[in-house]
Amino acid sequence: MNSNRPIKLLHLYPRDMNIYGDHGNILTLQRRLEWYGYTPVVLTYDPGDSFPDNVDIIVGGGGQDSGQSKVQDDLHTIVHHLQTLADSNVPMLMVCGLYQLFGKFFKTSDDEIIKGIGLLDIETYAKPERLIGNIIVRTKEFGDVIGYENHSGQTFIGEGATAFGSVIKGAGNNMADSSEGARYNNVIGTYLHGSILPKNPRLADFLITTAVTNRYGSFEPSGTPDDHLIEPAREIALKRPR
Ligand code: GLN
Repeated sequence: MNSNRPIKLLHLYPRDMNIYGDHGNILTLQRRLEWYGYTPVVLTYDPGDSFPDNVDIIVGGGGQDSGQSKVQDDLHTIVHHLQTLADSNVPMLMVCGLYQLFGKFFKTSDDEIIKGIGLLDIETYAKPERLIGNIIVRTKEFGDVIGYENHSGQTFIGEGATAFGSVIKGAGNNMADSSEGARYNNVIGTYLHGSILPKNPRLADFLITTAVTNRYGSFEPSGTPDDHLIEPAREIALKRPR
């Protein structure tokens, strides 16, 4: 067996889109890949960079409206890379601000339209009330997913996407239905910061096993993760007030 087995993680726009602990998602994927006996190679992509080849997982975070404005033009220059990778089942996790920009647009409270890339069939409109607090989302594939949300945008899902899950505590996509996040192929968009992956290892492992299987044909771990802190952390997080 090749003991090296690299897996390329791409962190999208870490300079402008990276708040409320989102960087923890990269650290979690990195560590779990090592535990499983793969070699994580972490790359970053900021505006103006050249887009790397053979990316296995892409992760992006949230940001202020101003951060979203900053990256929007650049995002449109890499849309063909992102669409091709999404169509070939590459796993991606986009949180909050980049979740919104993977959709069609985000209309801010100043009535500015920040154009998204439409990879997810969603539209987002800023509303006067910010949706802030701890959130729990029930998903079929990953169980109850725990995180923290803070956004003015309310997102509505069209027919081309499915929800990531349904909210059991908190707000999620909007104040009109109980949906949270959206999914197309293996691209998951969600409002959950926290960061989301340390407390939700089933989701982290979905990204990892999908990426590894795409790259190497099967997932054959040579070790196991040290998960002893996860259940206690989840128990505390589940009891937190909104
Ligand atoms: N600026 C966006 C909003 O307020 C995204 C916020 C975020 O990424 N946390 O809806």
